[in-house]
Amino acid sequence: MKVHNFSAGPSILPDSTVENTAAAIKNFAGTSLSLMEVSHRSKEFVAVMDEAIALFKELLNIPAGYSVMFVGGGASTQFCMIPYNLMAKKSAYLNTGAWANKAQKEAKLFGEVVEVASSKETVYNYIPKGYEIPADADYFHITTNNTIYGTEIKHDMDVNVPLVADMSSDIFSRPVDVSKYALIYGGAQKNLAPAGVTFVIVKDELLGKMDRQIPTMLDYRTHIKGESMFNTPPVVPVFAALQTLRWIKEMGGVSAMQKMNEDKAAVLYNEIDRNPMFKGTVINEEDRSLMNICFVMTDEYKELEKDFFEFATSKGMSGIKGHRSVGGFRASTYNALPKASVQALADCMKEFETMHVK
Ligand SMILES: *Cc1c(COP(=O)(O)O)cnc(C)c1O
Repeated sequence: MKVHNFSAGPSILPDSTVENTAAAIKNFAGTSLSLMEVSHRSKEFVAVMDEAIALFKELLNIPAGYSVMFVGGGASTQFCMIPYNLMAKKSAYLNTGAWANKAQKEAKLFGEVVEVASSKETVYNYIPKGYEIPADADYFHITTNNTIYGTEIKHDMDVNVPLVADMSSDIFSRPVDVSKYALIYGGAQKNLAPAGVTFVIVKDELLGKMDRQIPTMLDYRTHIKGESMFNTPPVVPVFAALQTLRWIKEMGGVSAMQKMNEDKAAVLYNEIDRNPMFKGTVINEEDRSLMNICFVMTDEYKELEKDFFEFATSKGMSGIKGHRSVGGFRASTYNALPKASVQALADCMKEFETMHVK
Protein backbone atom coordinates (compact mmCIF):
# COMPACT_ATOMS: atom_id res chain seq x y z
CA MET A 1 0.00 0.00 0.00
CA LYS A 2 1.19 3.51 -0.83
CA VAL A 3 1.94 5.45 2.36
CA HIS A 4 1.25 9.20 2.24
CA ASN A 5 3.61 11.10 4.54
CA PHE A 6 1.90 14.05 6.26
CA SER A 7 4.42 14.22 9.12
CA ALA A 8 5.01 17.71 10.57
CA GLY A 9 8.74 17.26 11.00
CA PRO A 10 11.06 15.60 10.28
CA SER A 11 9.00 15.27 7.17
CA ILE A 12 8.73 14.25 3.55
CA LEU A 13 11.62 15.06 1.22
CA PRO A 14 11.80 14.73 -2.57
CA ASP A 15 12.50 11.14 -3.74
CA SER A 16 15.67 12.36 -5.45
CA THR A 17 16.96 13.74 -2.11
CA VAL A 18 16.51 10.38 -0.41
CA GLU A 19 17.86 8.36 -3.35
CA ASN A 20 20.91 10.52 -4.08
CA THR A 21 21.80 10.74 -0.39
CA ALA A 22 21.47 6.98 0.04
CA ALA A 23 23.75 6.47 -2.97
CA ALA A 24 26.33 8.97 -1.64
CA ILE A 25 26.35 7.25 1.73
CA LYS A 26 27.65 4.21 -0.14
CA ASN A 27 29.87 5.93 -2.68
CA PHE A 28 30.35 9.68 -2.50
CA ALA A 29 31.20 11.53 -5.73
CA GLY A 30 33.08 8.57 -7.20
CA THR A 31 35.50 8.37 -4.28
CA SER A 32 34.50 4.77 -3.40
CA LEU A 33 34.12 6.10 0.15
CA SER A 34 30.98 6.85 2.11
CA LEU A 35 29.84 10.47 2.45
CA MET A 36 30.03 9.75 6.19
CA GLU A 37 33.69 8.77 6.00
CA VAL A 38 35.35 11.58 4.09
CA SER A 39 36.89 14.83 5.27
CA HIS A 40 34.60 17.80 5.15
CA ARG A 41 37.65 19.61 3.75
CA SER A 42 37.99 17.22 0.81
CA LYS A 43 37.53 18.99 -2.52
CA GLU A 44 34.44 16.85 -3.17
CA PHE A 45 32.67 18.00 -0.02
CA VAL A 46 33.79 21.63 -0.28
CA ALA A 47 32.11 21.59 -3.72
CA VAL A 48 28.87 20.37 -2.08
CA MET A 49 28.92 23.16 0.52
CA ASP A 50 29.74 25.82 -2.07
CA GLU A 51 26.96 24.73 -4.41
CA ALA A 52 24.44 24.47 -1.55
CA ILE A 53 25.13 28.05 -0.43
CA ALA A 54 25.15 29.36 -4.00
CA LEU A 55 21.83 27.65 -4.84
CA PHE A 56 20.30 28.83 -1.56
CA LYS A 57 21.12 32.42 -2.57
CA GLU A 58 19.98 31.93 -6.16
CA LEU A 59 16.61 30.33 -5.36
CA LEU A 60 15.65 32.96 -2.79
CA ASN A 61 17.15 35.75 -4.88
CA ILE A 62 19.17 36.93 -1.88
CA PRO A 63 20.56 40.43 -2.48
CA ALA A 64 24.18 41.51 -2.01
CA GLY A 65 25.05 42.41 1.58
CA TYR A 66 23.56 39.23 3.03
CA SER A 67 25.37 36.06 4.11
CA VAL A 68 24.01 32.53 4.17
CA MET A 69 25.40 30.00 6.62
CA PHE A 70 24.72 26.45 7.75
CA VAL A 71 25.16 25.81 11.47
CA GLY A 72 24.25 23.17 14.04
CA GLY A 73 22.00 23.34 17.08
CA GLY A 74 18.61 23.50 15.37
CA ALA A 75 16.30 26.49 15.19
CA SER A 76 16.16 26.35 18.99
CA THR A 77 19.80 27.45 19.32
CA GLN A 78 18.95 30.46 17.13
CA PHE A 79 16.51 31.56 19.83
CA CYS A 80 19.54 32.63 21.89
CA MET A 81 22.01 33.32 19.06
CA ILE A 82 19.77 36.06 17.65
CA PRO A 83 19.67 38.19 20.83
CA TYR A 84 23.35 37.43 21.49
CA ASN A 85 24.26 39.01 18.15
CA LEU A 86 21.52 41.59 17.57
CA MET A 87 19.95 42.69 20.86
CA ALA A 88 21.66 45.50 22.75
CA LYS A 89 18.81 46.37 25.15
CA LYS A 90 15.35 45.72 23.82
CA SER A 91 13.55 43.50 21.33
CA ALA A 92 9.96 42.90 20.26
CA TYR A 93 8.23 39.56 19.65
CA LEU A 94 4.93 38.51 18.12
CA ASN A 95 3.65 35.53 20.09
CA THR A 96 1.95 33.28 17.55
CA GLY A 97 2.81 29.86 18.95
CA ALA A 98 4.93 27.59 21.11
CA TRP A 99 8.05 28.23 19.02
CA ALA A 100 7.55 32.02 19.08
CA ASN A 101 7.06 31.77 22.83
CA LYS A 102 10.25 29.77 23.30
CA ALA A 103 12.15 32.28 21.17
CA GLN A 104 11.06 35.24 23.29
CA LYS A 105 11.82 33.39 26.50
CA GLU A 106 15.47 33.12 25.46
CA ALA A 107 15.63 36.80 24.50
CA LYS A 108 14.63 37.73 28.05
CA LEU A 109 18.08 36.57 29.16
CA PHE A 110 19.52 39.56 27.25
CA GLY A 111 17.29 42.49 28.21
CA GLU A 112 13.79 43.84 27.81
CA VAL A 113 11.40 41.90 25.61
CA VAL A 114 8.14 43.48 24.49
CA GLU A 115 5.46 41.02 23.45
CA VAL A 116 3.58 43.20 20.93
CA ALA A 117 0.62 40.82 20.68
CA SER A 118 -0.31 37.23 21.43
CA SER A 119 -2.97 34.73 20.40
CA LYS A 120 -2.06 32.35 23.22
CA GLU A 121 -5.45 32.78 24.97
CA THR A 122 -7.22 31.01 22.10
CA VAL A 123 -4.57 28.32 21.50
CA TYR A 124 -2.98 30.45 18.77
CA ASN A 125 -5.83 30.03 16.29
CA TYR A 126 -5.14 33.34 14.51
CA ILE A 127 -2.33 35.77 13.70
CA PRO A 128 -2.73 39.01 15.72
CA LYS A 129 -2.80 42.22 13.67
CA GLY A 130 -2.85 45.94 14.41
CA TYR A 131 -0.19 46.02 17.14
CA GLU A 132 2.53 48.57 17.65
CA ILE A 133 6.25 47.80 17.54
CA PRO A 134 8.37 50.00 19.84
CA ALA A 135 10.57 52.17 17.61
CA ASP A 136 13.58 51.65 19.89
CA ALA A 137 13.51 47.84 19.63
CA ASP A 138 16.71 46.37 18.19
CA TYR A 139 14.59 43.97 16.14
CA PHE A 140 11.11 42.51 15.77
CA HIS A 141 10.80 38.71 15.74
CA ILE A 142 8.08 36.75 13.96
CA THR A 143 7.44 33.07 13.22
CA THR A 144 6.12 33.05 9.66
CA ASN A 145 4.58 29.57 9.84
CA ASN A 146 3.25 28.16 13.08
CA THR A 147 3.79 24.47 12.50
CA ILE A 148 1.69 23.30 15.45
CA TYR A 149 -1.40 25.54 14.95
CA GLY A 150 -1.55 25.85 11.17
CA THR A 151 -1.35 29.63 10.90
CA GLU A 152 0.98 31.44 8.54
CA ILE A 153 2.09 34.96 7.69
CA LYS A 154 2.22 34.56 3.92
CA HIS A 155 3.54 38.01 3.02
CA ASP A 156 6.68 40.00 3.78
CA MET A 157 5.91 42.65 6.37
CA ASP A 158 6.99 46.26 6.29
CA VAL A 159 8.05 47.23 9.81
CA ASN A 160 9.88 50.12 11.44
CA VAL A 161 12.73 48.08 12.98
CA PRO A 162 14.93 45.20 11.68
CA LEU A 163 12.74 42.15 11.03
CA VAL A 164 13.82 38.67 12.16
CA ALA A 165 11.88 35.60 11.02
CA ASP A 166 11.78 31.94 12.00
CA MET A 167 10.96 30.26 8.66
CA SER A 168 11.67 26.71 9.81
CA SER A 169 8.51 25.29 8.29
CA ASP A 170 7.85 27.48 5.26
CA ILE A 171 11.26 28.30 3.80
CA PHE A 172 11.29 27.75 0.00
CA SER A 173 7.49 27.41 -0.05
CA ARG A 174 7.08 30.82 -1.69
CA PRO A 175 9.21 33.70 -3.00
CA VAL A 176 10.48 35.90 -0.15
CA ASP A 177 11.65 39.50 -0.44
CA VAL A 178 14.79 38.97 1.63
CA SER A 179 15.62 42.69 1.52
CA LYS A 180 12.79 43.27 4.02
CA TYR A 181 14.48 41.09 6.65
CA ALA A 182 17.49 41.51 8.91
CA LEU A 183 17.72 37.78 9.54
CA ILE A 184 15.88 34.62 8.48
CA TYR A 185 16.56 31.24 10.06
CA GLY A 186 15.22 27.74 10.46
CA GLY A 187 15.86 24.10 11.16
CA ALA A 188 16.13 22.20 7.87
CA GLN A 189 14.01 19.21 8.85
CA LYS A 190 10.64 20.53 7.66
CA ASN A 191 11.14 21.50 4.03
CA LEU A 192 14.78 20.94 3.14
CA ALA A 193 16.82 18.14 4.67
CA PRO A 194 17.04 15.65 7.51
CA ALA A 195 17.50 17.12 11.01
CA GLY A 196 20.99 18.30 11.94
CA VAL A 197 21.49 21.44 9.93
CA THR A 198 20.13 24.95 10.49
CA PHE A 199 20.19 27.76 7.92
CA VAL A 200 20.72 31.43 8.69
CA ILE A 201 20.46 34.36 6.26
CA VAL A 202 21.73 37.59 7.80
CA LYS A 203 22.25 41.18 6.70
CA ASP A 204 25.98 41.67 7.22
CA GLU A 205 25.88 45.30 8.32
CA LEU A 206 23.89 44.41 11.47
CA LEU A 207 26.67 42.27 12.93
CA GLY A 208 29.56 43.36 15.14
CA LYS A 209 27.64 46.03 17.03
CA MET A 210 27.28 44.44 20.47
CA ASP A 211 29.37 45.45 23.47
CA ARG A 212 29.16 41.99 24.99
CA GLN A 213 31.55 39.09 24.43
CA ILE A 214 29.96 36.45 22.22
CA PRO A 215 31.16 32.85 22.55
CA THR A 216 32.94 31.89 19.32
CA MET A 217 30.44 29.26 18.18
CA LEU A 218 27.48 31.57 18.85
CA ASP A 219 28.92 34.49 16.89
CA TYR A 220 27.54 34.60 13.33
CA ARG A 221 30.78 36.15 12.10
CA THR A 222 32.61 32.93 12.97
CA HIS A 223 30.47 30.91 10.57
CA ILE A 224 30.45 33.52 7.83
CA LYS A 225 34.22 33.81 7.92
CA GLY A 226 34.62 30.01 8.18
CA GLU A 227 32.25 29.51 5.21
CA SER A 228 30.08 27.20 7.37
CA MET A 229 33.17 25.05 8.04
CA PHE A 230 34.55 26.64 11.19
CA ASN A 231 33.92 23.30 12.82
CA THR A 232 32.83 20.02 11.24
CA PRO A 233 29.48 20.61 9.52
CA PRO A 234 26.77 17.92 9.45
CA VAL A 235 27.86 16.57 6.08
CA VAL A 236 24.95 14.22 5.38
CA PRO A 237 22.20 16.82 6.03
CA VAL A 238 24.11 19.44 4.01
CA PHE A 239 24.45 16.99 1.11
CA ALA A 240 20.73 16.20 1.34
CA ALA A 241 19.87 19.92 1.45
CA LEU A 242 21.78 20.38 -1.80
CA GLN A 243 19.73 17.62 -3.44
CA THR A 244 16.49 19.32 -2.35
CA LEU A 245 17.70 22.71 -3.60
CA ARG A 246 18.52 21.16 -6.99
CA TRP A 247 15.04 19.60 -7.05
CA ILE A 248 13.38 22.95 -6.29
CA LYS A 249 15.33 24.53 -9.14
CA GLU A 250 14.38 21.74 -11.55
CA MET A 251 10.73 22.09 -10.60
CA GLY A 252 10.79 25.78 -11.52
CA GLY A 253 11.96 27.47 -8.32
CA VAL A 254 10.06 28.95 -5.39
CA SER A 255 7.29 30.49 -7.53
CA ALA A 256 6.48 27.02 -8.84
CA MET A 257 6.56 25.69 -5.26
CA GLN A 258 4.10 28.39 -4.20
CA LYS A 259 1.71 27.55 -7.02
CA MET A 260 1.83 23.84 -6.18
CA ASN A 261 1.39 24.52 -2.47
CA GLU A 262 -1.63 26.78 -3.06
CA ASP A 263 -3.10 24.13 -5.30
CA LYS A 264 -2.62 21.33 -2.75
CA ALA A 265 -3.89 23.37 0.18
CA ALA A 266 -7.03 24.34 -1.76
CA VAL A 267 -7.92 20.66 -2.26
CA LEU A 268 -7.82 19.99 1.46
CA TYR A 269 -9.31 23.24 2.76
CA ASN A 270 -12.18 22.91 0.26
CA GLU A 271 -12.92 19.43 1.56
CA ILE A 272 -12.69 20.57 5.21
CA ASP A 273 -15.13 23.41 4.48
CA ARG A 274 -17.50 21.27 2.41
CA ASN A 275 -17.63 18.11 4.52
CA PRO A 276 -20.16 18.38 7.40
CA MET A 277 -18.00 16.10 9.57
CA PHE A 278 -14.94 18.39 9.67
CA LYS A 279 -14.00 21.97 10.40
CA GLY A 280 -10.77 23.98 10.32
CA THR A 281 -9.25 25.22 13.59
CA VAL A 282 -7.89 28.54 12.26
CA ILE A 283 -10.51 31.27 12.53
CA ASN A 284 -9.46 33.70 9.75
CA GLU A 285 -9.15 32.38 6.24
CA GLU A 286 -6.17 34.64 5.44
CA ASP A 287 -4.19 33.13 8.35
CA ARG A 288 -4.52 29.54 7.11
CA SER A 289 -1.17 27.86 6.57
CA LEU A 290 -0.26 26.32 3.23
CA MET A 291 2.15 23.98 5.02
CA ASN A 292 0.28 22.59 8.04
CA ILE A 293 -3.46 22.14 7.66
CA CYS A 294 -5.21 21.68 11.02
CA PHE A 295 -8.76 20.41 11.38
CA VAL A 296 -11.05 18.70 13.86
CA MET A 297 -14.40 16.91 13.66
CA THR A 298 -17.49 19.05 14.11
CA ASP A 299 -19.28 18.77 17.49
CA GLU A 300 -21.91 16.45 16.05
CA TYR A 301 -19.28 13.87 15.03
CA LYS A 302 -16.68 14.51 17.72
CA GLU A 303 -16.86 10.96 19.08
CA LEU A 304 -15.80 9.60 15.66
CA GLU A 305 -12.38 11.27 15.77
CA LYS A 306 -10.57 8.11 16.76
CA ASP A 307 -12.48 6.13 14.13
CA PHE A 308 -11.50 8.56 11.41
CA PHE A 309 -7.89 8.41 12.50
CA GLU A 310 -7.93 4.61 12.26
CA PHE A 311 -9.81 4.65 8.95
CA ALA A 312 -7.37 7.13 7.39
CA THR A 313 -4.38 5.22 8.75
CA SER A 314 -5.73 2.01 7.21
CA LYS A 315 -5.84 3.85 3.87
CA GLY A 316 -2.15 4.78 4.10
CA MET A 317 -2.36 8.26 5.66
CA SER A 318 0.65 8.65 7.96
CA GLY A 319 1.40 11.42 10.46
CA ILE A 320 -2.03 13.11 10.48
CA LYS A 321 -2.58 13.24 14.23
CA GLY A 322 -2.85 16.84 15.43
CA HIS A 323 -0.45 18.21 18.03
CA ARG A 324 -1.68 17.40 21.54
CA SER A 325 -2.32 21.09 22.29
CA VAL A 326 -4.75 21.42 19.35
CA GLY A 327 -6.12 17.87 19.02
CA GLY A 328 -7.82 16.55 15.90
CA PHE A 329 -5.74 16.32 12.77
CA ARG A 330 -2.84 18.05 11.10
CA ALA A 331 -1.85 17.33 7.52
CA SER A 332 1.53 18.78 6.67
CA THR A 333 1.71 19.57 2.97
CA TYR A 334 5.34 20.55 2.53
CA ASN A 335 6.94 21.15 -0.88
CA ALA A 336 7.78 17.49 -1.51
CA LEU A 337 4.29 16.15 -0.77
CA PRO A 338 2.60 15.27 -4.09
CA LYS A 339 -0.88 16.56 -4.87
CA ALA A 340 -2.00 12.93 -5.19
CA SER A 341 -1.39 12.47 -1.44
CA VAL A 342 -3.59 15.44 -0.58
CA GLN A 343 -6.24 14.12 -2.94
CA ALA A 344 -6.03 10.71 -1.26
CA LEU A 345 -6.67 12.30 2.15
CA ALA A 346 -9.60 14.35 0.80
CA ASP A 347 -11.02 11.13 -0.73
CA CYS A 348 -10.74 9.43 2.67
CA MET A 349 -12.74 12.26 4.24
CA LYS A 350 -15.42 11.94 1.55
CA GLU A 351 -15.60 8.19 1.98
CA PHE A 352 -15.89 8.55 5.74
CA GLU A 353 -18.76 10.99 5.18
CA THR A 354 -20.68 8.47 3.02
CA MET A 355 -20.21 5.90 5.79
CA HIS A 356 -21.59 8.12 8.56
CA VAL A 357 -23.71 11.02 7.27
CA LYS A 358 -27.24 10.07 6.33
C1 LIG B 1 10.33 22.65 14.33
C2 LIG B 1 10.38 24.11 14.59
C3 LIG B 1 11.35 24.69 15.44
C4 LIG B 1 12.34 23.86 16.22
O1 LIG B 1 13.36 23.45 15.41
P1 LIG B 1 14.61 22.61 16.00
O2 LIG B 1 15.50 22.56 14.80
O3 LIG B 1 14.08 21.30 16.43
O4 LIG B 1 15.19 23.38 17.13
C5 LIG B 1 11.34 26.06 15.58
N1 LIG B 1 10.46 26.85 14.94
C6 LIG B 1 9.52 26.33 14.12
C7 LIG B 1 8.56 27.24 13.42
C8 LIG B 1 9.45 24.95 13.92
O5 LIG B 1 8.51 24.43 13.11
